[in-house]
Amino acid sequence: MPNQIDAFKKRTGVIRIVGHRGARGVFPENTMLGFEYALASGVPLLEFDVVLTADDIPVITHNPTLHKQTFRDQTGQFISKELPIRSLSFADLGRYEVGKIDGTTAYGAAFPDQAQVAGLRVPALAELCALVKHPRHHAAHLLLELKSDPRLIDMRAHFVAQVLRVIRDHEVVGQTVLHSFDWEILAECKAQAPDIPTSFLSIASEPEFNLPDDLPAHIKAAGGALWCPHFRDITAEDVAYAQTMGLGVVVWTVNTIPDIDRMIDFGVDAICSDYPGRVQRRLSDRGLLWE
Ligand code: MG
Repeated sequence: MPNQIDAFKKRTGVIRIVGHRGARGVFPENTMLGFEYALASGVPLLEFDVVLTADDIPVITHNPTLHKQTFRDQTGQFISKELPIRSLSFADLGRYEVGKIDGTTAYGAAFPDQAQVAGLRVPALAELCALVKHPRHHAAHLLLELKSDPRLIDMRAHFVAQVLRVIRDHEVVGQTVLHSFDWEILAECKAQAPDIPTSFLSIASEPEFNLPDDLPAHIKAAGGALWCPHFRDITAEDVAYAQTMGLGVVVWTVNTIPDIDRMIDFGVDAICSDYPGRVQRRLSDRGLLWE
């Protein structure tokens, strides 16, 4: 089993913590500052989202378009038009700041504690790879989510090839798990990089995903190493069943103390949270460790 899968699996007295988009509850999402914070606070597992620019640079941002609630233009105002990331070069993208969140929106109101930081830009995937390649971050692992854009569905192979090029060039293959809701992208990952483990995201409440009945068996048959269900979709029995098949179970996005406690009780392998410190605190209070 590749080491990077062990890093996401529990063992006696240890449940893993994954920083969601770095640590979205505390620092601006999908920014180098957020990733540095997670690593500095002893959370070595980082979840983040990757999209491709017009000049084929894999960049770290959640949506296939600019996001009104977090992107600001050169005047400092939140944007009104959500252009596709694929229509912008990396240099174009660098003209936007992403260190603040629009508190007048529901999205902004959901993260009242997030630090607001001037001067932050959308990072290239290469920047994060360079950070975790540093010897001081040898324990760091990437849960690299490939975002699927329905408008670009015919270019999965190209997208995967660009991402693989960056992680191979930076020699972080052994620290990377490829993660997606788009299981066809994960099949493409397996075809191009059979050596890199894959992680299958699922959510039951969104019918377009049309989930098979026996999800863990399906993931196992597709060569998956991790199953990442939404935390409201599962029972303790589901977790145990997937684990008997050898899958690691990583739940998202678990932010409240009662939900964190319930997931610990369910026996999950890892908890992905916008508040990794809050998960540390619950594990610590219950006599558990996360690495
Ligand atoms: Mg994600």
